[in-house]
Amino acid sequence: MLTIPGVNADVRMHSHVIQKPLAAPRSGIMLHYDDSSSDRASLEWFHDPRCSNGYTWLVLDDGRVVELADPGMRTPHAGPCLTPMANSRFYGIAAATNGSVCATAQQLDSIARLCSALTRHHQWVDPVVVGHNEQAVWTAEYTSRRSLWGKTGRKVDPVGRRPDGVPIIDVKAVRQQLLAAL
Ligand SMILES: [Zn+2]
Repeated sequence: MLTIPGVNADVRMHSHVIQKPLAAPRSGIMLHYDDSSSDRASLEWFHDPRCSNGYTWLVLDDGRVVELADPGMRTPHAGPCLTPMANSRFYGIAAATNGSVCATAQQLDSIARLCSALTRHHQWVDPVVVGHNEQAVWTAEYTSRRSLWGKTGRKVDPVGRRPDGVPIIDVKAVRQQLLAAL
């Protein structure tokens, strides 16, 4: 199992998220929310045999980090994206929240800390941190509208669609916090 210095997960539960060997080297980090109604519902889902998605890390409301998969393996978190083999290329980090409840300050701090540990580990000079919405594209599997195939818009996380326009996770702010921490 891959151990990344500085990651310090509070909980490890690897058994229920599907993981496979990497199909491409890691080159960045993708941020998500998992669309859960509570930490508890989120943790239950990742224990559910019907669960077929998964992230490397799930960050709870109080900032605790749950490692759902071996960081050296890919998980089904990105799906078809502008970047090929996105499940491998990007580590998947999710805040346990949904499209209406903003990530907490503790969640954002933990996410930024994970990003900086990964950046140091890989010695990335220009770390790539993307939102799922920036990358996820439509394909024939998701829509019959051919005009949408290959275009973004398949996902709204981690920005969400709050009526007040406040993002659930402000990816730019996470990038800035990461750069400040390096
Ligand atoms: Zn997502």
